[in-house]
Amino acid sequence: MTEMTNQPRVVVTTSWDDGHHLDPKLAALLDKYDVPGTFYIAPRNIEIDPANRLSHDGIRELTERHEIGGHTLSHKRLPFLSDDEARHEIQAGKDELEQIIGAPITTFCYPRGEYNAKHVGMVRESGFGLARTVDRHSLEVGDLFEAKTTINAYAHLVDGPTILRIARMRPAAAVKMYFNWEDFAMAWFDKCLREGGVYHLWGHSWEVDARGDWARLERVLDYICRRPDVEYVPNGALIA
Ligand SMILES: [Zn+2]
Repeated sequence: MTEMTNQPRVVVTTSWDDGHHLDPKLAALLDKYDVPGTFYIAPRNIEIDPANRLSHDGIRELTERHEIGGHTLSHKRLPFLSDDEARHEIQAGKDELEQIIGAPITTFCYPRGEYNAKHVGMVRESGFGLARTVDRHSLEVGDLFEAKTTINAYAHLVDGPTILRIARMRPAAAVKMYFNWEDFAMAWFDKCLREGGVYHLWGHSWEVDARGDWARLERVLDYICRRPDVEYVPNGALIA
Protein backbone atom coordinates (compact mmCIF):
# COMPACT_ATOMS: atom_id res chain seq x y z
CA MET A 1 0.00 0.00 0.00
CA THR A 2 1.18 3.49 -0.76
CA GLU A 3 0.42 6.56 1.30
CA MET A 4 -1.07 8.43 -1.65
CA THR A 5 -4.35 9.14 0.14
CA ASN A 6 -2.60 10.64 3.15
CA GLN A 7 0.00 12.67 1.32
CA PRO A 8 1.07 15.75 3.29
CA ARG A 9 0.81 19.15 1.59
CA VAL A 10 4.12 20.23 0.09
CA VAL A 11 4.80 23.77 -1.13
CA VAL A 12 7.99 24.93 -2.88
CA THR A 13 8.95 28.60 -3.00
CA THR A 14 12.23 30.35 -3.80
CA SER A 15 13.64 33.87 -3.29
CA TRP A 16 16.68 35.73 -4.60
CA ASP A 17 17.99 38.89 -3.00
CA ASP A 18 19.47 42.23 -3.91
CA GLY A 19 18.65 43.22 -7.53
CA HIS A 20 21.91 42.31 -9.29
CA HIS A 21 22.40 42.26 -13.05
CA LEU A 22 22.92 38.49 -12.80
CA ASP A 23 19.33 38.02 -11.55
CA PRO A 24 17.98 37.45 -15.09
CA LYS A 25 20.47 34.59 -15.50
CA LEU A 26 19.10 33.05 -12.33
CA ALA A 27 15.52 33.67 -13.48
CA ALA A 28 16.27 31.87 -16.76
CA LEU A 29 17.42 28.84 -14.78
CA LEU A 30 14.21 28.92 -12.72
CA ASP A 31 12.21 29.17 -15.95
CA LYS A 32 13.98 26.12 -17.37
CA TYR A 33 12.61 24.08 -14.44
CA ASP A 34 9.26 25.87 -14.05
CA VAL A 35 10.11 27.04 -10.53
CA PRO A 36 8.81 30.51 -9.61
CA GLY A 37 10.97 32.95 -7.70
CA THR A 38 10.53 36.12 -5.68
CA PHE A 39 13.27 38.66 -6.37
CA TYR A 40 13.86 40.99 -3.41
CA ILE A 41 15.29 44.17 -4.87
CA ALA A 42 16.85 47.27 -3.32
CA PRO A 43 16.69 49.55 -6.38
CA ARG A 44 19.51 51.81 -5.12
CA ASN A 45 21.57 49.12 -3.39
CA ILE A 46 24.71 50.80 -2.01
CA GLU A 47 26.46 47.42 -1.75
CA ILE A 48 26.26 46.85 -5.51
CA ASP A 49 28.25 48.95 -7.97
CA PRO A 50 25.64 50.98 -9.93
CA ALA A 51 26.89 49.35 -13.15
CA ASN A 52 26.03 45.94 -11.70
CA ARG A 53 22.55 46.79 -10.41
CA LEU A 54 19.60 45.29 -12.22
CA SER A 55 18.18 47.92 -14.61
CA HIS A 56 14.57 49.08 -14.45
CA ASP A 57 13.93 47.21 -17.70
CA GLY A 58 15.53 44.15 -16.14
CA ILE A 59 13.22 44.44 -13.13
CA ARG A 60 10.16 44.76 -15.38
CA GLU A 61 11.20 41.71 -17.41
CA LEU A 62 11.44 39.61 -14.24
CA THR A 63 7.77 40.33 -13.50
CA GLU A 64 6.71 38.37 -16.57
CA ARG A 65 7.29 35.07 -14.77
CA HIS A 66 8.36 35.98 -11.26
CA GLU A 67 7.44 38.14 -8.28
CA ILE A 68 9.22 41.33 -7.17
CA GLY A 69 9.55 42.06 -3.45
CA GLY A 70 10.86 44.97 -1.37
CA HIS A 71 14.36 44.97 0.15
CA THR A 72 14.55 48.65 1.25
CA LEU A 73 15.63 51.49 -1.03
CA SER A 74 19.40 51.23 -0.61
CA HIS A 75 20.11 48.07 1.45
CA LYS A 76 21.29 49.91 4.55
CA ARG A 77 21.39 47.86 7.75
CA LEU A 78 18.09 48.67 9.52
CA PRO A 79 19.31 48.39 13.15
CA PHE A 80 21.90 51.09 12.49
CA LEU A 81 19.33 53.65 11.25
CA SER A 82 17.09 56.04 13.16
CA ASP A 83 13.42 55.07 13.20
CA ASP A 84 12.63 57.75 10.62
CA GLU A 85 15.42 56.60 8.32
CA ALA A 86 14.41 52.94 8.65
CA ARG A 87 10.77 53.76 7.92
CA HIS A 88 11.82 55.80 4.90
CA GLU A 89 14.09 53.03 3.56
CA ILE A 90 11.28 50.46 3.79
CA GLN A 91 8.56 52.70 2.32
CA ALA A 92 10.64 54.42 -0.38
CA GLY A 93 11.97 51.07 -1.61
CA LYS A 94 8.39 49.85 -1.97
CA ASP A 95 7.22 53.03 -3.69
CA GLU A 96 10.10 53.01 -6.17
CA LEU A 97 9.63 49.35 -7.15
CA GLU A 98 5.88 49.85 -7.55
CA GLN A 99 6.55 52.80 -9.81
CA ILE A 100 9.00 50.76 -11.89
CA ILE A 101 6.73 47.75 -12.38
CA GLY A 102 3.39 49.59 -12.26
CA ALA A 103 1.86 47.16 -9.78
CA PRO A 104 1.70 46.72 -6.00
CA ILE A 105 4.23 44.52 -4.19
CA THR A 106 3.31 42.53 -1.09
CA THR A 107 6.49 40.83 0.12
CA PHE A 108 9.61 42.18 1.83
CA CYS A 109 13.00 40.87 2.91
CA TYR A 110 15.12 42.41 5.70
CA PRO A 111 18.60 43.36 4.37
CA ARG A 112 21.12 40.84 5.78
CA GLY A 113 18.27 39.46 7.86
CA GLU A 114 18.85 42.25 10.41
CA TYR A 115 15.83 43.78 12.12
CA ASN A 116 14.08 44.33 15.43
CA ALA A 117 10.46 44.44 16.60
CA LYS A 118 10.07 48.07 15.51
CA HIS A 119 11.05 47.20 11.94
CA VAL A 120 8.49 44.39 11.88
CA GLY A 121 5.85 47.01 12.71
CA MET A 122 7.14 49.40 10.03
CA VAL A 123 7.04 46.68 7.36
CA ARG A 124 3.47 45.82 8.34
CA GLU A 125 2.43 49.50 8.29
CA SER A 126 3.99 49.96 4.84
CA GLY A 127 1.42 47.55 3.44
CA PHE A 128 3.50 44.40 3.04
CA GLY A 129 1.91 41.06 3.90
CA LEU A 130 5.03 38.97 4.44
CA ALA A 131 8.65 39.60 5.43
CA ARG A 132 11.34 36.98 4.91
CA THR A 133 14.23 36.51 7.32
CA VAL A 134 17.48 34.55 6.84
CA ASP A 135 16.48 31.90 9.41
CA ARG A 136 17.12 28.52 7.80
CA HIS A 137 16.35 24.85 8.34
CA SER A 138 12.60 25.20 8.77
CA LEU A 139 9.72 23.62 6.84
CA GLU A 140 7.26 26.05 8.43
CA VAL A 141 6.89 29.73 7.54
CA GLY A 142 5.95 30.69 11.09
CA ASP A 143 5.09 34.37 11.70
CA LEU A 144 4.40 35.94 8.29
CA PHE A 145 6.46 39.03 9.23
CA GLU A 146 9.40 36.91 10.39
CA ALA A 147 9.08 34.23 7.73
CA LYS A 148 11.56 31.37 8.08
CA THR A 149 13.30 29.57 5.22
CA THR A 150 14.65 26.09 4.58
CA ILE A 151 17.92 26.30 2.71
CA ASN A 152 20.37 28.93 1.45
CA ALA A 153 22.11 28.23 -1.87
CA TYR A 154 25.49 28.58 -0.20
CA ALA A 155 27.89 26.36 1.75
CA HIS A 156 27.59 27.36 5.41
CA LEU A 157 30.46 25.80 7.31
CA VAL A 158 28.61 26.06 10.63
CA ASP A 159 25.91 23.59 9.58
CA GLY A 160 27.65 20.38 10.76
CA PRO A 161 25.22 19.27 13.51
CA THR A 162 22.13 20.07 11.43
CA ILE A 163 23.62 18.21 8.48
CA LEU A 164 24.23 15.13 10.63
CA ARG A 165 20.60 15.23 11.77
CA ILE A 166 19.21 15.69 8.25
CA ALA A 167 21.53 12.89 7.02
CA ARG A 168 19.70 10.74 9.60
CA MET A 169 22.94 10.21 11.48
CA ARG A 170 24.68 8.52 8.55
CA PRO A 171 28.23 9.95 8.73
CA ALA A 172 29.16 9.27 5.08
CA ALA A 173 26.04 11.05 3.85
CA ALA A 174 26.68 13.89 6.29
CA VAL A 175 30.24 14.39 5.07
CA LYS A 176 29.00 14.55 1.47
CA MET A 177 26.39 17.17 2.40
CA TYR A 178 28.94 19.15 4.37
CA PHE A 179 31.01 19.67 1.25
CA ASN A 180 28.11 19.92 -1.20
CA TRP A 181 25.28 22.21 -0.16
CA GLU A 182 23.18 20.90 -3.03
CA ASP A 183 23.05 17.45 -1.38
CA PHE A 184 21.94 19.13 1.85
CA ALA A 185 19.29 21.04 -0.13
CA MET A 186 17.99 17.86 -1.74
CA ALA A 187 17.90 16.01 1.61
CA TRP A 188 15.75 18.83 2.99
CA PHE A 189 13.41 18.42 0.02
CA ASP A 190 13.12 14.68 0.72
CA LYS A 191 12.27 15.52 4.34
CA CYS A 192 9.62 17.97 3.13
CA LEU A 193 8.10 15.29 0.87
CA ARG A 194 7.93 12.90 3.83
CA GLU A 195 6.61 15.33 6.42
CA GLY A 196 4.90 18.07 4.38
CA GLY A 197 5.50 21.79 4.76
CA VAL A 198 6.97 24.75 2.90
CA TYR A 199 10.34 24.23 1.24
CA HIS A 200 11.93 27.68 0.85
CA LEU A 201 15.20 27.87 -1.11
CA TRP A 202 16.88 31.29 -1.32
CA GLY A 203 20.13 32.91 -2.28
CA HIS A 204 21.90 35.57 -4.33
CA SER A 205 22.68 35.38 -8.05
CA TRP A 206 26.00 37.19 -7.50
CA GLU A 207 26.99 34.70 -4.80
CA VAL A 208 26.08 31.67 -6.93
CA ASP A 209 28.22 33.18 -9.65
CA ALA A 210 31.15 34.14 -7.41
CA ARG A 211 31.35 30.62 -5.99
CA GLY A 212 30.92 28.87 -9.31
CA ASP A 213 27.73 27.26 -8.00
CA TRP A 214 25.49 27.42 -11.10
CA ALA A 215 25.71 23.67 -11.74
CA ARG A 216 24.98 22.92 -8.07
CA LEU A 217 21.91 25.18 -8.15
CA GLU A 218 20.75 23.56 -11.38
CA ARG A 219 21.04 20.11 -9.80
CA VAL A 220 18.77 21.22 -6.94
CA LEU A 221 16.20 22.79 -9.26
CA ASP A 222 16.19 19.69 -11.46
CA TYR A 223 15.60 17.57 -8.34
CA ILE A 224 12.78 19.61 -6.79
CA CYS A 225 10.88 20.60 -9.97
CA ARG A 226 7.73 19.19 -11.57
CA ARG A 227 6.87 16.74 -8.80
CA PRO A 228 3.30 15.50 -8.71
CA ASP A 229 1.19 16.93 -5.89
CA VAL A 230 3.74 19.63 -5.06
CA GLU A 231 2.66 23.28 -5.33
CA TYR A 232 5.21 25.74 -6.75
CA VAL A 233 4.47 29.32 -5.72
CA PRO A 234 6.15 32.73 -5.30
CA ASN A 235 6.64 33.94 -1.69
CA GLY A 236 3.56 36.16 -1.93
CA ALA A 237 1.29 33.12 -2.23
CA LEU A 238 2.26 32.20 1.34
CA ILE A 239 0.29 35.21 2.61
CA ALA A 240 -2.96 33.42 1.78
ZN1 LIG B 1 20.25 41.68 0.51
